[in-house]
Amino acid sequence: MESAQLDQSGSKQLNVLNCPHCNAPIDYSLGETLFTCKYCGYTFSMIKEGEYKEIAPGKHFMLVSSYNETEMREVSRDWMRKGILKAGDLAEKSKITKMELKFVPIWIVNVSANTSYHGKKKIVEVERRTRSSSRSRGAPIREEVRKERWVDKSGDFSDVVDWKILATKGMSLPLEKIKLSVAGKVPFKIENVSHGAKLINGDVNEELAKEKTESGIRNYHQDLASKEVDQLLSINTNVQVGEAQLLTIPFWFIQYKYKNKLYPIIFNGSSGEVVEGDAPMGKYDILVIAGIITAIIVIVIVAIALWPT
Ligand SMILES: [Zn+2]
Repeated sequence: MESAQLDQSGSKQLNVLNCPHCNAPIDYSLGETLFTCKYCGYTFSMIKEGEYKEIAPGKHFMLVSSYNETEMREVSRDWMRKGILKAGDLAEKSKITKMELKFVPIWIVNVSANTSYHGKKKIVEVERRTRSSSRSRGAPIREEVRKERWVDKSGDFSDVVDWKILATKGMSLPLEKIKLSVAGKVPFKIENVSHGAKLINGDVNEELAKEKTESGIRNYHQDLASKEVDQLLSINTNVQVGEAQLLTIPFWFIQYKYKNKLYPIIFNGSSGEVVEGDAPMGKYDILVIAGIITAIIVIVIVAIALWPT
C-alpha cells in the first residue's frame, strides 16, 4: 500500500526500450510512442511494446541549430535590452540560471480542403429624414431610421497548406506564432543534433497527427465561413489529407533570475527569434499603463456625455 502510493507520487514513470536498429537503450515515459535514437538517429514509432514502425529517412527532416550556448547567451541579453515594458537594468542585473537545447518533433501534414457555405448576412441601412416641427416656429426635426434586412450569401474557398502538429502533447509551444523556415530543412542526421542537446520523444503518431490536421482545418474553415455571414446555415468541407513529414526543430529553453524571481524565455534555435518570454516590468511602466487606461476611460466618459442625442 505504501509503496503504491510512493509510485503514484513520483512525477513520471521512466521506462527503457532498446533501439530496434542499434539496440542502444532509449528512456521514455509511459504514453510516448515516437522516438529518435540519440546514438544512431533511427526514428520510429511504437505500435505496441516490442512492435515498431520506422519513420523512413526520406520522411524525417530537421532544422539545424544556428546558435551555440555562448551565442544564445548573447541573443538572450539582446532580447532583455530591447522592447518596451521591461526593467531597464534587466540585461545587466539578471542571471541566466538554466539553458537547455531541445530538439522537438513536429508533424507537417500536407492537406487540401475546400468549403462551400450558405448563410444570411444582415444589412443595416440608416435613412436620414427631415420633417418640420409640430411647433409653429420650431426648427425642423432630423431623424435617423435604421432599417435591417437579411440577404442570402453563399461562397466557396479552398486551401492547400502544410498543417503543423506538435508531436509532443506535454509541451506548450505556440506553433501558430512560430515562423518556421521549412524551406531551410535538411534530411535528419543525428550528427546535426548539437552535443548535449536533448531529443524530445513524441506521443502523437502519424495517424493521430493526420486526424488532428483534418479536424484543425475543418475548424479553421468553419471560422472563415462564419466571418463571411452573420448566420451560417450550412457548410460543407471536403478535406484531403496528404503526406506527413516529421520535422525536428531546435528550441532553447532558458531560465533567468532577476531580483530573486525566475523567468522563462524560449527561442527558436534555428532562427534565433523569441517564441515566448517573460520579463519583469520597469519601476514606472505600471504607472504608464495606469495612465493610458485612465486616459481611455476619461475619453469614453466625455464622448458619452457629449454624444449628440
Ligand atoms: Zn539506435
